[in-house]
Amino acid sequence: MCKYMPTIADNLHQVYRQIHATAAQAGRDPSEVQLLAVSKGQPADALRTCYLEGQRHFGENYLQEALDKQQVLLDLTDICWHFIGPIQANKTRKIAEQFDWVHSVDRPRVAERLSTQRPIARGPLNICIQVNIDDEHSKAGVHPSELEALARTIMTLPNLRLRGLMAIPRHQDNIEQQRQPFALLAKLLRELKHSTHLPTLDTLSMGMSDDLQAAIVEGATIVRIGTAIFGPRPVRP
Ligand SMILES: *Cc1c(COP(=O)(O)O)cnc(C)c1O
Repeated sequence: MCKYMPTIADNLHQVYRQIHATAAQAGRDPSEVQLLAVSKGQPADALRTCYLEGQRHFGENYLQEALDKQQVLLDLTDICWHFIGPIQANKTRKIAEQFDWVHSVDRPRVAERLSTQRPIARGPLNICIQVNIDDEHSKAGVHPSELEALARTIMTLPNLRLRGLMAIPRHQDNIEQQRQPFALLAKLLRELKHSTHLPTLDTLSMGMSDDLQAAIVEGATIVRIGTAIFGPRPVRP
């Protein structure tokens, strides 16, 4: 028996095609939807494979694991690194130094530390505020009622650039149900643009392997995809 197994490169191109097709069907410009390859639990070689296929944006959840891979991939100087995991306030320095984006800011203390610790030479750190869109399940993310206050704090911090919102809705099987929290996140971004007039607010980080299409239909500008590219993750010890 010789069953054909798709490679990481095959999967990556399949995801590019799906993003393109879904955006086009939804009447959106496909170039507005950026693929973030979520590489937590994957070896550095798997990232290199994607890089060689043209992928530049990579998302990592665990700081030490990410720093180790960054060391191995130092030759790939134009990778754009996104931190998307929970942030412990005592670990912000390395995040501020080693990443280009942080998607999971949900409290002022973390934002203030990231701004203070950001090396000036690297330019402002791009920030998304994580919103607890289902208001249950996980404690990560600000409640929508506290979003504007956190955004206004971040806007005062010199070394951060507030780009938009991120959410991880709870799992739903049906695309109509999947769309609801994404539509709500899009509405929160519109309201925030309206109240703050901040010109850099252009990012909706939403959609994972199981709800990619619903997210694109509702306006995602960054989709965060792991399993559909790399296959099932090795179990963390
Ligand atoms: C793991 C993870 C993803 C990717 O999830 P998949 O289902 O593997 O596509 C996206 N976003 C965050 C925040 C994650 O932790």
